[in-house]
This record gives sequence, C-alpha cells and structure tokens, in this order.
Amino acid sequence: MRQLSKRFALLRDLGGRLERFLLPAACLLCGEGIGASVEGRPIICGLCRNRWTPLPHPLCSRCGQPVGYDIPCRICTDWPVALGRVRSAVWLDGGARQATHFLKYEGWWGVARPMAVAMRGLTPLTEGVFLVPIPLGRRRQRSRGYNQSEHLARALGEVWGLPIRPTMLRRIRETPTQTALTPEARRANVAEAFAGAGANGDACVLVDDVFTTGATLAAAAAALSAAGASRIDAVTFARAPHPVA
Ligand SMILES: [Zn+2]
Ligand SMILES: [Zn+2]
Repeated sequence: MRQLSKRFALLRDLGGRLERFLLPAACLLCGEGIGASVEGRPIICGLCRNRWTPLPHPLCSRCGQPVGYDIPCRICTDWPVALGRVRSAVWLDGGARQATHFLKYEGWWGVARPMAVAMRGLTPLTEGVFLVPIPLGRRRQRSRGYNQSEHLARALGEVWGLPIRPTMLRRIRETPTQTALTPEARRANVAEAFAGAGANGDACVLVDDVFTTGATLAAAAAALSAAGASRIDAVTFARAPHPVA
C-alpha cells in the first residue's frame, strides 16, 4: 500500500511538473491566461493575488493576531519566552486557502513565489537573520517528497535577500495532523517534537505556510532557543481563524 501511494505521489509530482511546461500559461486559481512578467511566468494572476485578504489592524504586538482596541490577546499569553513576534500576511480563506493547498499537497512549488511576495512587507526582520523553515517528520517528508515550508522559505529568502538554514531545526518526533485538535491538544501534540542545532547566538525567523494557534512555532522556537539562538521571530503566509477567538 505504501509503495503504491509512493508511486502515486511520484506520478502526481511528475504530472504537475509536466503540466507547467505543456499547458499554456494560465492562472492556477482562476484558469485565466497570464503572460510573462518581470517575475517570469507567474503561476497565480494579479487579480487572484489581489483577492487575498490582508490581516486587519490593529494586531497583537506579539503574535500578530488582529485584535480589537483595548481587548487583550488570548492567543499568545502562554507562549514560551523563546518565541518573540509572529506575523502573517493574509487570512486563510478563498484563494489563499487554495494556494496553500496547491503548495502543500499538489506539488506546485511555484506557488511559493507569489506567497512570498505577499509576505514581503511583514515585520519583524533585520539584517543578519537566518530564515528557518518548519521541518516535516522524516516519514511525512518521504511520502510527500518535499517540505512546503522549505520552498516558501527559499522563495522568501530570495524576496528579502536573506539566507535560509534548514539544518538548524529537525523534527525528531512524528506528530499526528493537527487539523481537528483543540489549542491545548495541539500544544501537547507538538511538545518536544523539534531539536535545534548550530544556532549559536544567531537570530532566526521561522517560516511556515499557515498559523493556526502558534503551537508548532512555539515548540520550534523552544528547540532553537535550547540550541543557542539569540532571538526567534516567525512569519507565515496565511492565518486561520482562531478556534478560541
Ligand atoms: Zn487568477
Ligand atoms: Zn497575541
């Protein structure tokens, strides 16, 4: 069974790559034709990108969650001190959700580029920072064939002109998918799932595709901090509506 699903994944990846060469340039989301631009052949058209919904301000200064004026944020109160500030570009809805799905499950790595461009204006970033993608477990990476967060981090590294360091963080424990879990269960699910290495005194920005409760970022930050990172912030392309908000 596993062999079969592996072969299917290979075929699907190959199919996705062939499509990119064979089909006329059409937007992955709306199917309308798109011409080449300074970015080469964009995989998602400008109209579809404009439909992505930026997060409304004001934001919690720490976790980047849109909050009402004078209403305290409930998302980041229990985060470890290791995780500094987190920012996301858009809500996880409509076309942004589709784009994330194409990147994560369908092998369309080119989607990482427009996602990274949407993240261009995110703070906090300074010079001398390493981008660190959230790693997958070995088994999931094998069956999927790639890590979507690494593609996103590479695209973001090009946009920002910052180096990426995937080797700074490993997933040492496979974790069941988080989709249906409560915030508390998510925290328990990813506790001690990561190990950091070689982060001596470095400032890092974690990169992931989606922010849901921050449990994964918090666990990853704790591991990087234990490995000696001096400061850890994080950015994601999209943010899911918070289950307790
Ligand atoms: Zn489109
Ligand atoms: Zn917050």
